[in-house]
Amino acid sequence: MNEFELIDTIKQQTYRQTSLIKGVGDDAAVFRSDGYDVVTAVDTFVENVHFSKKTMDEVDTGYRVLAVNISDIAAMGASPKFYLVSIVIPPQLSDKQVQDIFKGMKEIASVYKMDLIGGDTVSGDSLMISVTVIGYVHRDKVRYRHDAMENDLVFVTGTVGDASCGLHILLNALDVDNSDYFIARHRRPRPRVAFANDLQKISRLALNDISDGLANELHEIAEASNVTIQIDDNLIPISHAMHVFTKEEQDNWKYFGGEDFELLGTVSEQNWAQVVDVANKHGLQVTKIGSVKPKSIAPVLLQQNNKNIPLEKKGFIHKK
Ligand code: ADP
Ligand code: MG
Repeated sequence: MNEFELIDTIKQQTYRQTSLIKGVGDDAAVFRSDGYDVVTAVDTFVENVHFSKKTMDEVDTGYRVLAVNISDIAAMGASPKFYLVSIVIPPQLSDKQVQDIFKGMKEIASVYKMDLIGGDTVSGDSLMISVTVIGYVHRDKVRYRHDAMENDLVFVTGTVGDASCGLHILLNALDVDNSDYFIARHRRPRPRVAFANDLQKISRLALNDISDGLANELHEIAEASNVTIQIDDNLIPISHAMHVFTKEEQDNWKYFGGEDFELLGTVSEQNWAQVVDVANKHGLQVTKIGSVKPKSIAPVLLQQNNKNIPLEKKGFIHKK
């Protein structure tokens, strides 16, 4: 199949978004945002750096690369609408494998009613997929990580560490209870779009998605907002099934593992009940894990065994 025939097989026959004016088929796509603020992000994935055949098939790979981008849009409080895909195809990849990557993207795109509106297709030495997403948000309702304020409480959706646990199970071919659950959390993350969108009534909220680990994302909010965030080790929500692993492994995954694509946020005490209501409505767990303090000795402090220790961005927890 040449490039044009391939594009023909991956392009959508119909589009879902009414604001789209021109999708695939011209020099560029056109849409009209009608008073919304437009939010956009791009992520690039290189085979054997960001994903590997050993742990994921093509459909899962496609699903995941788009999911990761959708999560960034969710973390801005926006709704994902469109995506563009730039792909470098190596000679050993079959047409079917390329189509399967798009199949995975289409699967998650349909969940969020997104349209594939363009991209670029070229040959190269190794597989690389770069996805650009575009979302809309009501005017001035974007959620920034610089909006945390002193006395806010800090919350996280779902459970953290599952995706890293799943990857660990795959890489080591472990046979443990609930391995399907953990593997699915790695291969098929569910961006928290509906939850973030439904928080719109709350006037101020800081949000960040957990792509690089809870510790790292806490740092990003604390540094952007010029505050210190204090969290309590006992409150961090992890899956019960993770208890078969060592405490070191659990700590490592929950703080530094990342790729769960849950949302981390801070909100004023008086808006907390609304956050809980919205989470309940979507059948999503939401947990208070700490609070925002004036800037002190470190961006993030971890309360563990009645001590406050600085939590590093990456690495291990240093026992005192
Ligand atoms: P041009 O030469 O004008 O850049 P191309 O021949 O590269 O156009 O692409 C033709 C059409 O197909 C364009 O609308 C482009 O956005 C779309 N397209 C190309 N590659 C992809 C892809 N990987 N995914 C989605 N759309 C694509
Ligand atoms: Mg082109």
